[in-house]
Order: sequence, then structure tokens, then C-alpha cells
Amino acid sequence: MGERNLKFGQMHAIIEIIALITAIEYFVRDGGASVLFGMIVFASCAIVDIILARVLGKDQTVKNRILIGIRIAEFLLLSAFIVYNDSGIRETEVISFILLFVRMIEMIFLFDYSDKYTRVIVIGTMIFPITAFVLVKLLLISSSADYGNNAILALGSIAEIAAVVAAVFLLCNIFVSWLLASEHKIFEQRRMTEKTEEMNETLKLHQEKIKKANEELGIQRIKMETANRQIQHVNAEINTQNELLKNVAACLDIQSLSDKIPEAMCESMDNLLFCCVLLAPVTKKGSVVFNARAKNISEGFLQAYSAEIISKGLNNKDSRTPSVDKELNIDSMRFCTESDMLCSIAKIPLFKDDKEEGIIYLGSNIRDNFDDSENLFSNIAAQVLLGINNITLYTAVEQMAINDGLTGIFNRRTLNEKMSQMGHDAENNHTPLSAALFDIDHFKGFNDTYGHACGDVVLQKLASLLDEAADKYGGIAARYGGEEFVLVFPECNREKCQNILEETKGNIDRATVEYDGKTLSVSVSIGFSTYPEIRKSSNELLGCADSAMYYAKEHGRNQIKCDGPDVDEFEAGRKRQHK
Ligand code: GH3
Ligand code: MG
Ligand code: MG
Repeated sequence: MGERNLKFGQMHAIIEIIALITAIEYFVRDGGASVLFGMIVFASCAIVDIILARVLGKDQTVKNRILIGIRIAEFLLLSAFIVYNDSGIRETEVISFILLFVRMIEMIFLFDYSDKYTRVIVIGTMIFPITAFVLVKLLLISSSADYGNNAILALGSIAEIAAVVAAVFLLCNIFVSWLLASEHKIFEQRRMTEKTEEMNETLKLHQEKIKKANEELGIQRIKMETANRQIQHVNAEINTQNELLKNVAACLDIQSLSDKIPEAMCESMDNLLFCCVLLAPVTKKGSVVFNARAKNISEGFLQAYSAEIISKGLNNKDSRTPSVDKELNIDSMRFCTESDMLCSIAKIPLFKDDKEEGIIYLGSNIRDNFDDSENLFSNIAAQVLLGINNITLYTAVEQMAINDGLTGIFNRRTLNEKMSQMGHDAENNHTPLSAALFDIDHFKGFNDTYGHACGDVVLQKLASLLDEAADKYGGIAARYGGEEFVLVFPECNREKCQNILEETKGNIDRATVEYDGKTLSVSVSIGFSTYPEIRKSSNELLGCADSAMYYAKEHGRNQIKCDGPDVDEFEAGRKRQHK
């Protein structure tokens, strides 16, 4: 039960009270049964409507059927009053018609007022009681004396009712068509609103989609940026490796390799402050090679840090994998000046199997610069080791050309080259030059008694002793052929040479060779000559030393013989014999 019924109920009650007051007024003034009946009708209607209004006001659940029943009852009463009212008071009639009129409209609202047929049926039902009463009245008065007058009155009532019905019907039609139009408008508006809401929803959905797409794009962008950074990182690493490979591949000696590594690293790596490299020697006689390059750090730091690296040397056997030090200790930092922004140091040890071939130190001004550089470091190590391998192989081939394969000291070809150079130098600088020839006494006996392998060991032992003497006195040692060796000393006169040879012979005499559980010793016959004290040309030295050695052989072996006129005489005798 809606708000509308409540309003109608209140309206009925007000009109009924007005009608009641009017009826009471006429009744008090004129009296009469009709007016009394009217009073009763209006009063009962008013009471019912007031009660109904109160109930409707409080309880909205009152059913339509109850209301319709009450209204039909009221219709009956009002219709009866309208039909049988013969008081002639127009006001009560008018008010009754108004009440009827309003009730009809209300009744239409209780049904589906938008349907025309329903309206016709409802109004038809509403006018049924009044029609019935009129007919009854017409029947009753047809037998009365005052028929004509009463019939006119009844017909008047019918006309009035017909007018009310027509008015109600017309009003309803107008109202309904207006209502439908406005409902249509409302419906249209609602549809528009719904459409707009739908569009809004669609827009919202699109917005969500766009937002999602944007987020997706954002993620993609971040991914792209990350990928880009990775590509740049990889490119930088490839660049470093290429640069290194280019430089390393061209190196044929360890010194230039040690030079090229820091150069390549400093030129290709970003955020690098310095690069130091320490490499193991590739030959027996070689020493550890160090090189350093500062890119963006003080020379003072580099010098002090280099000194420390050199003093430490190559003894990193414990850590064979690259390491990065981000918590720089006092040791590293104490060399830094104020402008040095050293934040991390990477160490790349170079190991080939178990042999430590070197170590590379890299310094950076960025703490995390060497993060994720394991691959780069292992590639750098691999490339440098490849370079070292190349150099080792190249050096070995080179050594084979200049050194004797068995003993490792210079071969005869190299001796000739060096001898000629030293001869030139001596003659040009007017400095002395001495050469000595060594021949093992009864060497054949070693071969014959213990085998050639034993002879080889003896040769190696003697070569190493001669090499030591050459190193000690700034000369060279070479294998002349078979079991014959040569020592050459620049800036060495006869006396000095005699002393060196005596010392060397003493060492040889004391030396022993362990072979197959036996301790063997060896003696040598030595001949030597000196430029310019004995010979005026350096070219003659080797030949004369050879003659002196033969002289020693012939005069009991195991001795040193200095070149001189007696050797010349001995040599002349030998030649005569050979002829
Ligand atoms: P002498 O005291 O007169 O010098 O006698 P010798 O036995 O030392 O000299 P000889 O010339 O009679 O013998 C030299 C031997 O050295 C002959 C040769 O087989 C041997 N010989 C030469 N070269 C090598 C080598 O590379 N290894 C070995 N095991 N023996 C060699
Ligand atoms: Mg010989
Ligand atoms: Mg010999």
C-alpha cells in the first residue's frame, strides 16, 4: 500500500469532514431524514477514512483488497445518498459528487490505470451501485403520484452521474496519457541513463584495459630496459674481450703481453681506475714480469700498490678463482690520495692446470662494478692463458733454434752469432774478450760402460755447471758439439779468465752425477785464448782455444791450457803429422 493511497485517504477524510459539517449545518437548520442519512454517510466515511489514514500512515502492509472493499462500501453509501437524497441541498450533493469523483480516480489507481479497458471496467463497476439505485428509485417512483417530478429528479441524478463518469473518464484519459508520456520520457531518460551508465561501464572497462595495457607496457619497458642494460653489459664485455684478444694474439713475448693486458683493459673497460698484471716467466732463466697502467688514479697509488704486488709475487695457490674485494682493507687504501675514489678491487688468478701463470688486478671507482663479472673474468683469464700458451710455444720453438736440445744452453749456431757480435764489440770498444773450450775426458767410456742415456746426463750436468759460470761472470755458455763446450766472457782478460776457469774446473771436479745408483765424476780438458792479450783478432779465439784444449789433452788431460806460442808450435806439429 503506497504513499498515494495514504494521500487519497487523507483527501477523502478532509472532504468528508467538510461534507459532514455542511450536512450538520443544514440538519440543525432544517432537519430532515435525507440530511441525517447524509450526515451518517459522511461521518461513517470520515471515520473509516481517518482510521484508514492512521493505519496506512503506520502500517504500509494493508492489502489492496481491503482498501477496495472499504471503497466499494463507501461507494454504496455515497451512491445511496446521492440517489435517495431529496433534501434539495445542492452543497451536499456537490460534495458527494466530488467524493465519488475522487474515489473513482483513486480506484483507477488501485488497478492498472495505464490500461484503457481496465479503466472502463473499474469505472463501470463504480457506477454500478448508483445505476442500480437509480433504477430502483425509478421503479419505486413509477408507481407514485408525483411521478413526473421524481422522474425528472432521477433523470437529473443520472445525468449528473454520467457527467461525473465522463469527467472522470476524460480526466483519467488526459492524466493517463500525460502520465504515460512522462513515464515514457522517464523511461527514455532511464534508458538514456542506463545507456550512459552502460557507456560509462564500457568506458571504465576500456580505461581498465588501457590502464592494464599501460601497466603491461610499463613492465615491458622495464624488461626492455633491463634487456638493454644486459645487452650493453654483454657488449662491453665482448668489447673488452675483443680488445684483449686483439692485443694478446699479437704478442710473441711475455714482456709485451704484460704491457698489452693493462692497455687493453684500461681502454675497453668502463669505470676502471687501474690494471696491474704479474706474469710468470716462460723460460727457465726468465723472471716474473710486472706491468701496470693507471687510468683514473694517482701515479703515487699505482707505484706503491705495484710495489706491494711485486713483493707478494705469485703465490696465490689457495685462491684459483677470481675474487672481488669491496671492503677494501687499510693496506689497499693507505696508498690512495684524496682524489682516488677506489671502491673495489678484482683479482683474476691465471692458472694453467696446476701452474700459476700470473695474476691480474683491476681497480674500480664503483663498488659493484665487478658484480656479475664471473664470465668476463674467466674469459679474460682464458684469453690471457691462451696468449701465454702461444708465447710459451713460440719461445720453445725459438729456444730450439738458438739452444741445444739436450743441454738447453746455446747451440753452435748461436754461439757463432754471439761470438761474432762480442768480437765486434770488443774490437770496437777495445775491451778484452776471452773464450774457453771444454772437452770431457774419456767421455766415450760413459757411453760404453753405462749407455748413451748416462752420457746424456753427464753432458747435462756439465752444461749446467758451465751455464752457472757464464751467468756468474756475465758470459755465455754453448755446446760446441758432442762432448765439447764453450764459455765466452766479454771484458775479461787472460788473468780473470784463468781464475774463472780454475774456479769452474774446481766445481766440475767436485761435481758428481748420480746414475743408476752409481755416483760418477767427470774431468775436463780446457783450452782458452784472450783478445787482444794473446790473439790480435777476436775471430781466432775459438780456433786457438780448441788448439789449446788439444794441447791439454795431449799433455795428460784434466787441465787448463792457455793459448800461446807453445800451443802454436803444438798445433803446427799436429798439422805436419796429419799431412
Ligand atoms: P777424449 O778424452 O780423448 O776426449 O776421449 P773421448 O772419449 O771423450 O772422446 P771421443 O771423441 O773418443 O768420444 C766422444 C764420444 O762422445 C763419441 C760420441 O759417441 C759421444 N757423443 C757425442 N755426442 C753425444 C751425445 O749427445 N750423447 C752421448 N751420450 N754421447 C755423445
Ligand atoms: Mg772431443
Ligand atoms: Mg773427450
